[in-house]
Amino acid sequence: MGPRFRDRAIAFTLVELLVVCAILTTLLAVLLPVFPRVRAMGWRAACIANLRQVGIALQLYREDYGELPPLLSSIVPTYLTASPLLICPADPYAGQFAGNARVEGNTYLPSGVSYCYVPRWRVAQELGWWDPFPHFGPGKWGDLTPVVECPWHWARRFRPHQDHNDPGSRGWQLVLMMAGSVRKIRVEDPIETFTPDRYR
Ligand SMILES: [Zn+2]
Repeated sequence: MGPRFRDRAIAFTLVELLVVCAILTTLLAVLLPVFPRVRAMGWRAACIANLRQVGIALQLYREDYGELPPLLSSIVPTYLTASPLLICPADPYAGQFAGNARVEGNTYLPSGVSYCYVPRWRVAQELGWWDPFPHFGPGKWGDLTPVVECPWHWARRFRPHQDHNDPGSRGWQLVLMMAGSVRKIRVEDPIETFTPDRYR
């Protein structure tokens, strides 16, 4: 192999490398914006699976005691053996904060709770969705009454005194209804106007 041929071979390899680089750059430019959306879809799917398990546990508790548990964490460990099922993968705090009016956090359960237990929510009691502590009653719309809500797919911040959606909030909140299935409702809909036909 003469020196001229070797140079040509190296030059050809460089052109190939440049082409590969261009293809990779194009692929990355196309795929990078997709990754956060794919991740968010994965979080939603995992959260919905968690909420369904929580719904089964709540129904079992209700069959045994004739009422709902006082706290969401009360279903652990008898009715929900795996406490990570109370953590939403989209919760940036992984349930580890001192709770507020909506989310109990790690106040009662050290492994933490990401989800909002609607019967304990002050606004839900004021609006008559659920009777006050301790029994909570049948719920304003029976099986269609919201019982557990995940705020972490629209709210990325934790505020200690949060008791209501911020005005101007946008996005979907995942809602487990007493019947056991998970629906979503728009967070910007005024909460006082909620009826089950708002489920999507
Ligand atoms: Zn969630």
